[in-house]
Amino acid sequence: MHTVLHDLFEHPAHERTPQNAIDLLPTRWRAQVEAKPELASMVTNDKEWLDRATSLVQTYFTLEQPTTFEATHREMHLENDFREDIYLHGYVDRLDVAPSGEVRIIDYKTGKSPKPGWEDKALFQLRVYALLYWKNSGVLPRLLQLMYLGDGKLVRSNPTLADLESAKKSLLRTADDILASLDKDYWPPKPSKLCDWCYFKRICPAHIS
Ligand code: SF4
Repeated sequence: MHTVLHDLFEHPAHERTPQNAIDLLPTRWRAQVEAKPELASMVTNDKEWLDRATSLVQTYFTLEQPTTFEATHREMHLENDFREDIYLHGYVDRLDVAPSGEVRIIDYKTGKSPKPGWEDKALFQLRVYALLYWKNSGVLPRLLQLMYLGDGKLVRSNPTLADLESAKKSLLRTADDILASLDKDYWPPKPSKLCDWCYFKRICPAHIS
């Protein structure tokens, strides 16, 4: 889905239609499978899989009209040395710079939007991107926007410098925890609902009885 939305903006604006986006799905999926053959085993029914992806594409078009703007950056790599011992980087799905100079950061999610009260947690990732962008360019992004294609909802925020400072403090706390663990070579597992999707579960001390 990310590749389709990335490549859609290679088309001239008037060709960024739902049908052209849907037409990209089979070739982009085949390219993914060629690059990572193990993906094929995760899909048992190709038609059902492409139907689901088609539905996500259709939902995308209910959230914005890509014929009406240019995507300035896609898969933008942001990086910064936060401290001598901390390097931070990430890839932003899309970063648009309006003619007015205002910046918005977009992240596509194929799942559903968070339950009420959890939006702030979901926005943390985008605040980190905003922090990196601000540190590198001196421009405070005007809008952070999560696009949930699973249920057609947006989560938005206008970040303040205080938000970015708070994200920075949180990152530094995490980094210091990691550095302390490195120092002691002590890595306590933290079981959660996410364990069921964790690649390391079969060797994780929290799950070996
Ligand atoms: S299985 Fe272990 S390593 Fe994986 S998320 Fe759970 S606690 Fe962490």
